[in-house]
Amino acid sequence: MNQIYSEELFDTFPEIFDRKLLAGGIDCQDGWFDLLGEFGLQAQRLRQMTPSADFRVRAIFVEDGMLRIRHQAEAPLGGLVHQFQQRSKTLCELDGSPAVGLFACQPRWHRYLCRRCADLHELMMVEKRPPMQYGADDKEDCRVLVLSAAA
Ligand SMILES: [Zn+2]
Repeated sequence: MNQIYSEELFDTFPEIFDRKLLAGGIDCQDGWFDLLGEFGLQAQRLRQMTPSADFRVRAIFVEDGMLRIRHQAEAPLGGLVHQFQQRSKTLCELDGSPAVGLFACQPRWHRYLCRRCADLHELMMVEKRPPMQYGADDKEDCRVLVLSAAA
């Protein structure tokens, strides 16, 4: 995520997005900025109910095309994190438009994208993959990489 957006998240929600803990950067594209902003807002509200708990996010990255938010195990953030991770699949990681599916950018690198971004980069949509390759959490959404070379 670009520096300006990252700084805005650090400045707006310092108890959630801690600049020092996330010194390695918010490791996703700009299209999820609004989504992370909304997560920050809701996490902040949740924090007001249990101010003693540690709500600081440990890492933000992309795994199998999906947003991943790592936090302290004991923080009462689990439900919210799950909800926002799932929501990331509905938004284009590049520009935040509604996503039409998961696309292969590299053999091991996937992104949820809108049609326009996928067409712009001539990316192929990813199809079903056997569920054992993913955690039970994401079973219904498992898809497989279809490389143009393999077609
Ligand atoms: Zn897009």
